[in-house]
Order: sequence, then structure tokens, then C-alpha cells
Amino acid sequence: MSNDPAPLLVVRDLKTYFFLDEGTVRAVDGVDFAVHPGQVVGIVGESGCGKSVTVKSVMRLVQRPGRLVAGTIRFRPSSQSAQRWPLAPDGTLDLAALDPQGPIMRAIRGGEIALIPQEPMAAFSPVHTIGNQIVEAIRLHQDVDRQTAWEWGVERLAEVGIPSPAQRMRAYSWELSGGLRQRAMIAMALACGPRLLIADEPTTAIDVTTQAQILTLLRALQEQHNMAIIFITHDLGVIAQIADHVVVMYLGRVMEAGPVEEIFLRPQHPYTRALLRSIPSIHTPSRTLLPTIQGSIPHPFNRPAGCPFHPRCGDFVPGLCDRNTPEPVPVSPTQTVSCHLYTGELHGEPIPDRSSPA
Ligand code: SF4
Repeated sequence: MSNDPAPLLVVRDLKTYFFLDEGTVRAVDGVDFAVHPGQVVGIVGESGCGKSVTVKSVMRLVQRPGRLVAGTIRFRPSSQSAQRWPLAPDGTLDLAALDPQGPIMRAIRGGEIALIPQEPMAAFSPVHTIGNQIVEAIRLHQDVDRQTAWEWGVERLAEVGIPSPAQRMRAYSWELSGGLRQRAMIAMALACGPRLLIADEPTTAIDVTTQAQILTLLRALQEQHNMAIIFITHDLGVIAQIADHVVVMYLGRVMEAGPVEEIFLRPQHPYTRALLRSIPSIHTPSRTLLPTIQGSIPHPFNRPAGCPFHPRCGDFVPGLCDRNTPEPVPVSPTQTVSCHLYTGELHGEPIPDRSSPA
């Protein structure tokens, strides 16, 4: 990780809601996290916890009926871009305040922040060659001719380990295997040298051997380019392999955050502890039932009051956890937890009014 103390991205109190006829879904409901240059931040949680909507909000790609309703997304652009854009005195831009379709946001997407989607088959156009799509991405952000962009594309395909890159530039996405398609998607995302790469479950749809190769490749590219990565996954095993810092999400809120070693060796939040208990160990005797988290994720229209995890929590404190939403509190200089077991409210300290709507 870089020694640069200034964060690349700081997300504060981010709220993204979906306004449907049936009601409002609070998909992201007050999320805080930061990403430093060269750092890999893993966002982990079950399906529906809001991790993908969080990164779509950062890229301003949330579509109606979804809307970013509150919060700030402060991003520090490269010095080259900074000369062209109106920055705050601290050298950042608030992406939440920008027009999602405006020129600055269009330049940031793909140029400064790039996305690797979960399923490259759906992301690549099936009627254009891989090369044409990479060339288009490069020329959208860089003032270079087609020949130069084509040569850069060949270099990028070679860099991500695609054999015969010049020939592959003329291939269509459906002619490549799943692993090669994912590598081509990484090459396209890296085409313009982004400062921040967002990888949204990039290894979910591929076999475990290819998954291990892609994780090794991403880590190598991250170190080579000193790029920051936000890695979205539901798989704690993947997080352990790639992340420096972990953000655990549940029902649109951050439950726990900290360095990967602290989260795995000293998990504090009941939800994190339950997730880790449910991972099979090599020492687990065969035919042993793994512990599971009781109950299931509530329906999005039927969100519980207070702590969102309380209907499933073994440490639930009646009258407190079902009334007040816990805010993040530090449990070490680098780790925060959102749980009343740590907020002091159990020990007779005054309870501020943080009642959340049901
Ligand atoms: Fe469990 Fe209460 Fe902590 Fe929520 S606040 S995780 S219900 S102990």
C-alpha cells in the first residue's frame, strides 16, 4: 500500500433508496468507508446487503427508481485531471453532487474509476470485437489515434496474460472462455490507467482454479500500478486472499470495518462472528453440520427497527437493539463496530434518540 496518507475516496453517510409503488427500499442506508491509494478494500455481505448498490452509487450508475438521497462521495482525482475540474480546497470532488451524465462524471467513469462487472459476457457487446471495444474505451479518455489505441490494447491483453493478444483483439467475447473473457474485461478496465478499480464479484461465475488465477493477477496488477481496488464479494475466503481492509455490510449498513487481520482474528460484531463460524475448516470432522445464521434476511419492505440484525442475533438485547440503531464505535485504533454491545448503552449511559423508522 502507498504511504500517501490522503485517502483516494471517502464515502460518508451514503444513502441510496429505491422508490417503488410498493414502498421504499433503503438499499444503502448510511454507509461510511474510505479507500487509500494502493489499498484493496473488500466489501463483504450476503446477497441484498447493498454492496453492489454502494459501488454503483460511487460510480453514479444507479438507475431510476433508485436515487442517491444523502451523503458525500469525496474522490481525489489525478493531478492531470485536477487541473481541469473545480476541486474543493482539500483537492477532492464530491461525486454525489455531480450530474451523473455530465462531462466530469463521464470522464471519471472509465478514466479515473473503472469497473469490472460480475459477468463479462453481459458487459461486452457480442457484435463488436474485443479490440474495437478496448480501442473505443481508450479513445474516449485519451487523445490518441486509432493505431496507438490498438497497440495499447494489445499491450493490455498481454499484461493480463492473454496468449496471442494481437489475434485476440480481433475475437468476439463469445469466442473466449470464461477465464479469458474475465481477463479481457480486466484489460479493458485498466486501459486508461484508473486510480481506483471496482471489481464487483469478478470471480463468482468462474471455476475455482481460474478464480485463484484472477485473484493473483488482480493483486499483481494492483501492486504494479499502485492502484486502489474495491473488491465486492459474498465470499470471505476471497476477501482473506486479496483485501487489506474489510467492510462487512448487512441490510444496507456497515456492521464492522477494519484491517483484514483484525476482522479474521478478532471479529467483534455478532454478524461477522456468525459469518466466520459458518466457514468450513480443514479441521472440521466429516459429517459435521456447520453452524448457520438463524432466520433469513428480512424482506426489503419489512425492515426491522433498531439494529437491522436483531431478529437473527444471538446477543439481542430486548428494548435496546429493537429500538435504537447502533452507530459505528471504535473498538481499536483501526476497527469499528456498529453494535450496542460496544456503544456503552448497555452500561447505563444515556441513550441518544436514534430510533429508526420500521
Ligand atoms: Fe446483536 Fe444488538 Fe449488537 Fe444488533 S446491536 S448485533 S442485535 S447485540
